[in-house]
Amino acid sequence: MQWCIDNWEAVAAEVGAELGISRARASSEMNYGLELVDRLPRLGAAMAAGEVDFRVIAVVVFRTGLIFDPAVLAAIDARLAAAAPAWNGLSRRKIVELVDWWVRELDPAAERVARRTDEDRHVEINPSEGGLAQFWGAMRAPDAAMMDRRLDQLAASVCAEDSRTKDQRRADALALLAAGQSTMVCDCGSDQCPAAGAGAPAPVVIHIVAEQATVSGQGTTPGYLPGFGAVAAETVRELATRARLRPLTPAQEFVAEPRYRPSVALAEFIRARDLWCRFPGCEVAAEFCDIDHSIPWIRGGPTHPSNLNCKCRAHHLLKTFWCGDNGWAETQHPDGTIVFTSPSGRRYTTTPGGALFFPDLAAPTGALAVAHADPPPDNPGRTLMMPTRKRTRAEERAARIDWERGLNEARWAADPPPF
Ligand SMILES: [Zn+2]
Ligand SMILES: [Zn+2]
Repeated sequence: MQWCIDNWEAVAAEVGAELGISRARASSEMNYGLELVDRLPRLGAAMAAGEVDFRVIAVVVFRTGLIFDPAVLAAIDARLAAAAPAWNGLSRRKIVELVDWWVRELDPAAERVARRTDEDRHVEINPSEGGLAQFWGAMRAPDAAMMDRRLDQLAASVCAEDSRTKDQRRADALALLAAGQSTMVCDCGSDQCPAAGAGAPAPVVIHIVAEQATVSGQGTTPGYLPGFGAVAAETVRELATRARLRPLTPAQEFVAEPRYRPSVALAEFIRARDLWCRFPGCEVAAEFCDIDHSIPWIRGGPTHPSNLNCKCRAHHLLKTFWCGDNGWAETQHPDGTIVFTSPSGRRYTTTPGGALFFPDLAAPTGALAVAHADPPPDNPGRTLMMPTRKRTRAEERAARIDWERGLNEARWAADPPPF
């Protein structure tokens, strides 16, 4: 006979009382504990040692929940124990991508996706209210990434006087594409519109990082599509037949380059190695990042992989202008690891994103020879200009409040409340 309040519930009651948490939460934490003891003991040890956050554990336990082969479990446990301590600063989505990456490699049948999701591709369009229609669906991630870029690109092709929001322009852009058009007309109505006559925009480009063996059909390691995660090896192979392939130069082959701007090969290596902005906690994709000299070029920092990293424009500006004695500082190591020091003296270490997926990308790129020189007095050594705000934050907030109050007042004027 199984009692409804069984042994498990009895223990949960004790654990809950001891920790001052609910029965359900106690039960869930017992579950995590058991999973770690039974299935992922090395990861459990790392957590017990305080090296891995519970947030990471929760994702890992769920994403590995379908693995039953003890050999696979042991293999993934060993990898997790070694790697997970570096994941505490990553977002949940990134942790999911990383765990799924290994599950897909070691035991593809255990990946936590509905079976054959690829066959679920579809688009549904339904009438909605107020002259709008709604649509939803699912498409292959590389196709969706391409569409997303194209909509952004078309939405950005009008001048600043266009009356529509970016979201509205994206929706209009999709309609244009459906009508077989490739340009968006600005609605500013001016003959002087700088966006008029711009012609069809350039083709959109997406980047997928993959091992050579995957591309040539000899390997099963998935490719990585920034912002979307793993792309099945078969899809990578299929895309490779119609995409431009750009083999990455191996890390060790780079030497310091003579110019500030890195060569195409070096820039591509840095973007593939970093995958996203290197500032702690930031996840702007590398292709939208600037390539920053860790030790500034003007202070003798070479254009060399050990001195270059990806930073989104905001963090590039932050580092360039909020540096010095009371600002942010950073030290980059030859394997791409960067240690940031905040103005209050706290330290944060980030490792290159690409190296988390493709360990070869973390191969040390060599020590630097830096000839330290002080910047000339009237040249602060900046290659970037700090943009200015049109309105202060306070003004912007006031404008938003005004706008929202205006909406309410208009609504009341049309339909007065019964005071
Ligand atoms: Zn215009
Ligand atoms: Zn950033």
